[in-house]
This record gives sequence, C-alpha cells and structure tokens, in this order.
Amino acid sequence: MTASIIDGKQIAAQLRARVADEVERVKRAGGFTPGLAVVLVGHDPASEVYVRTKAKQTEAVGMASFQHKLAAGTSQAELLALIARLNADPAVHGILVQLPLPAGLDSQAVIDAIDPAKDVDGLNPVNAGRLATGLPALTPCTPLGCIILAKTVHASLEGLNAIVIGRSNLVGRPLAQLLLNENATVTIAHSRTRDLAALCRQADLVFAAVGRPEMVRGDWIRPGATVIDVGINRLPPGPDGNSRLVGDVAYDEAMAVAGAVTPVPGGVGQMTVACLLVNTLRAACAIRGLPAPGV
Ligand code: NDP
Repeated sequence: MTASIIDGKQIAAQLRARVADEVERVKRAGGFTPGLAVVLVGHDPASEVYVRTKAKQTEAVGMASFQHKLAAGTSQAELLALIARLNADPAVHGILVQLPLPAGLDSQAVIDAIDPAKDVDGLNPVNAGRLATGLPALTPCTPLGCIILAKTVHASLEGLNAIVIGRSNLVGRPLAQLLLNENATVTIAHSRTRDLAALCRQADLVFAAVGRPEMVRGDWIRPGATVIDVGINRLPPGPDGNSRLVGDVAYDEAMAVAGAVTPVPGGVGQMTVACLLVNTLRAACAIRGLPAPGV
C-alpha cells in the first residue's frame, strides 16, 4: 500500500485564493483594506526570507503589508514603543513579531504587549487562554494549517484518536486544543513520554512537531493513519555537498504504511503563511464589526 500525499502547496494556494475573494468582499462592504504589520529585529537570514514571503503573499491577496525592520541593537523599550504604535494604528489589523528575537530582548513581554485583537500569531496569553477554554480566539497559524490539512482527508475529526508529539506554545499545545474543539480524542506526547511508539500506533491521526529528523518511524504508524509532519529539519550536507530538508517523520517508511502523509517540504510549511492571512482577515473583520469571513 502507498499512502496518498497531502499536497500542502495546492491546498494553501486554494486557501489564499479564498482569502483574496473575501478581502475583495470586505473592501467593497467595509470600505477598508485589511492590513498586516510584520516586525523583524536584526538580520537572521531565515527570518528575512520568512518576512519577505509573508509580505509578498499579503500583497498578493489584496491586503496591505507594513514591514518594520529594526536594527539588531534595538532596545526592549524601542520595540515595545513600536508595538504600542501598531496597536493604536487603525490601518493595522494584524501584528506579527518575527521570532526568535535577538538575545537580550524579552519575547514574552513583546508578545504580551500585542493587542489580543491584533495578535494574528495567536501567542498572546489572552488568545491562548481563550482557545484553552473553548472560546473563539486567534490561534497560532501552523496548528490551524494542520487541522485544515487533516480535514482534507477526514471530513470530520470527531471521535478519532489523535496524538500530538510536542507541547510547545507555538505548535503542540494549541494543536491539541484545536483537536479537542474538533471532538478528537487527544494524546499529547513529549520528551518524557514513555513508549511513544506504542502510543503512536493507537492513533488515527499523528501530528509530529518535535524538531528531530525522521524520529517517527514506519512501524510507529497504524496502517491507514493520517500523518501530519510539522517538523522542518535541515540535515548537514551529504557527500554530494547538498543539504536536505526532512521532517520529524521518516517519509518513505510512513508512505508504505499510512493512509495519507504530508511531505516536507510542500506540506504544513505551505499552510502557515496562508493561515496567517486567514487570521489577519478574521482580525480585521472582528475589529471593524463585520461578520466573520467565510474562510
Ligand atoms: P520546540 O523545540 O519548541 O518543541 C519541541 C517539542 O518536542 C517539545 O515539547 C519537546 O518535549 C518535544 N520533544 C523533543 N524531543 C522529543 C522526543 N525525543 N520525544 C518526544 N517529544 C520530544 O519546537 P516547535 O514546536 O517550535 O517546533 C517543532 C518542529 O516543527 C520543528 O522542527 C520546527 O522547525 C517545526 N516548525 C514548523 C513550522 C512550519 O511552518 N511547518 C512552524 C513551527 C515549527 P519537552 O516539552 O518535554 O521538551
């Protein structure tokens, strides 16, 4: 048996097209343009690429993109002053501070300072708390993307056994909460979990968000299960001099057992920015008192 490949690239493109339609509708109905502000401190090359991609995709769906690039030596007070200005700016409906911040800056204090209504990364404790108590919330983008991908395979996740490997605030925890909201039965595993392979084999849905290359092996996967691989790990260059990106799941092994698998790259990673656009649109509609968008 060979699993089907969950094509994150195509699913993300469809999602962006739906966002673009809704942005057009909001512009007509609400007479304003939803706007996303992205803040980058320092010159981390990977972060610079992410920020460029976010700006390009924001503009491509018809939203306004505001980029704030600050020097590596920016102080905490300067960064917090910028957040306060963006919180007060009526043209800005979403604020994202690209993480990680350079050493010496307190990320949590910055996240705490973002207006929860504009917190499109869903990391502010108000949104995390609302999600944990089952209230409507802006939720982190990667877990949102994971749910959308799983739902392309299963019309409903209700009653399915799901395992989430990883419990970070960015991925594992909010993903587990979103799965609970979908009425899945959720196991959260982490570095202290005993006999992870056996737990994994009970799952209809496996979400791997660990950051360990190809940790989840084929014999951990129940035949026919759906495997969503969040991991992005760059392996050191091989004999051919090329480095390779791999997920947290041994892809070829998983393909031989599972029902459906996300590739790396081309899976979850594609969904993260698309979901950021969804969150910005949702935030804009909520702030302006418009009905929630149909996406
Ligand atoms: P973190 O390092 O914050 O969290 C990793 C989690 O994995 C922790 O909860 C840790 O457990 C758990 N873990 C570590 N080792 C093991 C082990 N041997 N067995 C079981 N659990 C283990 O990572 P993130 O959540 O931020 O990211 C996870 C992966 O997802 C990374 O590869 C990252 O690059 C990728 N990622 C991809 C995104 C995308 O857009 N596709 C976006 C964000 C992340 P404990 O809590 O006990 O330490």
